[in-house]
Amino acid sequence: MQSLKDLMSKIDIVDVIGSYIDLKRSGSNYMARCPFHPDDTPSLSVSPSKGIWKCFGCGVGGDAVKFVAMYEGISYREALIKLAEKYRIPIKLKTTKDEKIFLIMEEVANFYHQQLKGNERAKEYLKFRKVPSAMVERFMLGFSPSTEKLLEFLSTRGYLNEYEKTGNLYKYKDGSYRDIFLERLIIPIRDAKGRLVGFGGRTISDAQPKYINSPESSVFKKASVLFGLWQAKDYIREKQVAYLVEGYFDVIRMHSIGLKQTVAPLGTAFTQEHAGLLSRYAKRVILVFDGDEAGKKAVRTAASHLLSYGIEVFVCYLPEGEDPDSMGERDPKALENLINGAKNLFDLLIEEDNLKEYVYFAGFLQDGILKHELLTKLSRAKNIPIDSIYSMLPKKTQKKESSHGLSYYEKVFLIGLYRLKPKDVDLRLLNLSPEAMLLAEEILSGEEDLPDFLQNERIPNLEEAFRFALENLKIEKKSVSLRSLRKRFSEL
Ligand SMILES: [Zn+2]
Repeated sequence: MQSLKDLMSKIDIVDVIGSYIDLKRSGSNYMARCPFHPDDTPSLSVSPSKGIWKCFGCGVGGDAVKFVAMYEGISYREALIKLAEKYRIPIKLKTTKDEKIFLIMEEVANFYHQQLKGNERAKEYLKFRKVPSAMVERFMLGFSPSTEKLLEFLSTRGYLNEYEKTGNLYKYKDGSYRDIFLERLIIPIRDAKGRLVGFGGRTISDAQPKYINSPESSVFKKASVLFGLWQAKDYIREKQVAYLVEGYFDVIRMHSIGLKQTVAPLGTAFTQEHAGLLSRYAKRVILVFDGDEAGKKAVRTAASHLLSYGIEVFVCYLPEGEDPDSMGERDPKALENLINGAKNLFDLLIEEDNLKEYVYFAGFLQDGILKHELLTKLSRAKNIPIDSIYSMLPKKTQKKESSHGLSYYEKVFLIGLYRLKPKDVDLRLLNLSPEAMLLAEEILSGEEDLPDFLQNERIPNLEEAFRFALENLKIEKKSVSLRSLRKRFSEL
């Protein structure tokens, strides 16, 4: 948010606050009677060099925007807009994605779905893959028979320009288009909120490649979407267990035989973000993968990400030549039994006598107690001194901090505000950056979900961390004497 930084740097706090109340110079600062509590002696101090103000009487304070918000009884967001107008700085505050594109995608999915119903070849293909019609409806599967029909559909509704931006249409130099999903079975892809963000396309002939996906865009990020999560999340939440498979048709088959907690990445590797997403719903994830080399490699990647989020990892390797789709179709009961017999990753590695991998995976656990328990277990099982096991642990790799302009305490505060829903938080008493202030207001209004970069942050013992962050964000603690407050403030 560059414009927000521009605005904050242009705001003259003395000018802003001075337009509401009388300010008197006092050294390098300004003092005034506080308008927020009955104040006989000037208790409110303004520091032009720091761009902040605070009251030594009632403990409120913040930046110029916050003063305007409190004085006028408006939100921080409204005060920002007001100041942006005053200083003639255009700011774009709403960063939520364009809702319109989701609606257009939804209508296009429905168009494809209707096309499927009238297309014999597509229906024949679904019969061949033994996809039950209930699943065609549940996942709103579709088919693209002709670019012309799609263009006509888009044009008559005035969607063409907007839809073109998704990259789902290929535009030739002469200005004509081609539906990139032409002659393909369409698999609509929804994010966790149910919004239609992209499509998967499976050829029904011998055309290559077998699968294509919508290109990445501002609304479609493959690394942070799991296919089937929207349909599965209530079941996952209920059982606290998710099944992870590899392909679209695996998900569809599993749902069709009643294993409705199943999700898959979009034909790409399982990412850290996927793990963060699942950690919101599941305590345990069962990986239902092929037992071949590729499957084992996929387990390794997925397990490391899941463990780093404190999710228990269970593994279920399928017999050679089978995938969840084929096996679930042939013998659903056998597949279910196999999944129910899935083994904890660490138990499996002890059985396989794979010490190196055991320690490698233990290294991803953030919970020190659990890590110690697991390593002790290995030490006993294999009769190896615990010290030498610890020495095998990989060097701690620090997770990259994406700051997004927020401090650590601000992040913990916002996550706690969202997840713990505390009743007694007074933003006026907290020292928050404009970014954090805007997010806090949104969370308190209940309008917005946490942004993804915060959703995926894992804070162990959130309640305690939240309380600690809150203390650290307080402008001042009440118990401190006025004199020492003044002294501290002048040192700021
Ligand atoms: Zn005051």
